[in-house]
Amino acid sequence: MGFAPFEKKIWLSSPTMHGEELKYMKHAYDTNWMSTLGENLNQIEQMICEKVGCNCAVPLATGTSALHMAVKLADISHGDKVFCTDMTFGATVNPVVYEGGEPVFIDTERDTWNMDPNALEKAFGLYPDTKVVIAAHLYGVPAKIDELKAICDKNGAIFIEDAAESLGATYKGRQTGSFGTYNAISFNGNKIITGSAGGMLLTDDFHAADRVRKWSTQSRDVAPWYQHTEIGYNYRMSNVIAGVVRGQIPYLEEHIAQKKAIYERYKEGFQDLPIQMNPFDAENSEPNYWLSCLLIDRDAMCRQARSDNEAEFWEEPGKSCPTEILTKLARLNAEGRPIWKPMHLQPIYSQNAFVSLGEDVGADIFARGLCLPSDNKMSVAVQDKIIQIVKRCFD
Ligand SMILES: *Cc1c(COP(=O)(O)O)cnc(C)c1O
Repeated sequence: MGFAPFEKKIWLSSPTMHGEELKYMKHAYDTNWMSTLGENLNQIEQMICEKVGCNCAVPLATGTSALHMAVKLADISHGDKVFCTDMTFGATVNPVVYEGGEPVFIDTERDTWNMDPNALEKAFGLYPDTKVVIAAHLYGVPAKIDELKAICDKNGAIFIEDAAESLGATYKGRQTGSFGTYNAISFNGNKIITGSAGGMLLTDDFHAADRVRKWSTQSRDVAPWYQHTEIGYNYRMSNVIAGVVRGQIPYLEEHIAQKKAIYERYKEGFQDLPIQMNPFDAENSEPNYWLSCLLIDRDAMCRQARSDNEAEFWEEPGKSCPTEILTKLARLNAEGRPIWKPMHLQPIYSQNAFVSLGEDVGADIFARGLCLPSDNKMSVAVQDKIIQIVKRCFD
């Protein structure tokens, strides 16, 4: 299409290191605290509690294990239904299955691309015995938390936030990850800050945090030998990983500012195209802008076909589609990504219930949306070229 490929791959979102990470990792090494205890772990517990505004932050191996511990704390019984965000990464909902529960998927609203409170309300009408709700903040955009929580309260259900993508984002001035009874954050390699891996369970409940500390270290009882009265997990974070996290936390706000600038440059660059950026409630929330996404207007979509494993498109003047844009970006060595394929469309969850208000909003956003390269090390010149490539798709 007349563009030279990028010499160095432009990533969707890659780790951005600053140097201090190495200092804290080396400190773990030099003092031989190379295992699952140490100063780095103690420090990041404090730092995250302070940042998010919660009483307890338990360092764990991954965000997924944090979600597993959150679901376990919610104490579901075998076969219990759990209402889950539908358009999200599989790790939001798989822990429900680990605990013997049955995810019921709640459709997406168009204002923030998160769980639709009206669909959640409807779901409680259909399955009134449900006692747990797990809501993600997609791509760092806070969900309609007040509405979701009010419905949970009315129905006596526990609210769990999957804040894996939204660390640093605020809703009505408060950090995501502080609203639910038990919440999870992630330090996976592509998140807004990273430990290379890692996650945390956040809660205000000291007793719950203690239970997670015990479960995540093989549920060892207080006894002279290894004794167990509960099932255990090997989910604790290493002090070396915690060193990376400790070096990253001071840069969270800087990363958010860079991601925000990227989002705004895309928005400006796409002004004349039949495209909307992923929306948020500017009055009540400030996202962390983890990934910039776009949605193509319905009447500007060219034909696109997706099977379970393949995608195709047919070019049309003045129109485009996610498959065309992603294909052309990939050819030029830039990484975009489809929107998370909704859980109710996943082969593994095709038998689970899905509650929508009629129209399948998640399927529609999946069809017309995509995640743009959002790496905070991307230069303005590189981003301008990406904007030009996207524009060319609509010629
Ligand atoms: C990344 C992510 C997780 C899982 O975090 P890991 O640290 O990779 O286990 C969970 N939920 C969402 C929405 C995520 O994006």
